[in-house]
Amino acid sequence: MGRDIGAVCKLCRREGTKLFLKGDRCVTDRCALERRPTPPGEHGRMRRKETDYLLQIREKQKARRLYGVREEQFHRYYEQALREKGHTGQNLLRILESRLDNVVYRAGFAVSRRQARQLVSHGHVTVDGRRVNKPSFQVRSGYRVAVAERSKELDMVKEALQAFQRETVPWLSVDRKKLEALVVEEPTGESVDVPIKDELIVELYSR
Ligand code: SF4
Repeated sequence: MGRDIGAVCKLCRREGTKLFLKGDRCVTDRCALERRPTPPGEHGRMRRKETDYLLQIREKQKARRLYGVREEQFHRYYEQALREKGHTGQNLLRILESRLDNVVYRAGFAVSRRQARQLVSHGHVTVDGRRVNKPSFQVRSGYRVAVAERSKELDMVKEALQAFQRETVPWLSVDRKKLEALVVEEPTGESVDVPIKDELIVELYSR
């Protein structure tokens, strides 16, 4: 299954939660979920029986869509989380949160993870001074993520900085003048403020 590229607001309506896929629009009353909080489609208003399996699937889809990760890659992340020491669900969240596109979004250099992915894949982002164009690149503690010198004047970046209203995550130290973010420590699953019940995802893959 490929990445979801349809009307992104439908994804939030499907999951019943804000996935923040459209930048500043998401925090205004123009948000489609605020206007129509029902699932999309002609049967959207119908009540569905919520089995455990359905809840687990929905949670996995929510996480996958929030971070913009393909099905196969998400499964690989789960396997990696399972191999690592500690709590599998928290490991999974840490791996997702450590993606370079997420860091660019968290630093406020892009209005959404989707836009951050575009910035990275178009070569506008460096890690420790080297250009990295792989959105899934995993950052580690001590890495310095920056907007490339020649890209600092991009309207997209300037607008993102102006629109920035989110709290900066504690594991990043951001210098918005230099357009640089230092990964002070690796994010822990507990510090991830996303509306995801990781235990449901673990239950799904443990079936
Ligand atoms: Fe989701 Fe943002 Fe669309 Fe609201 S505006 S439904 S949060 S993508």
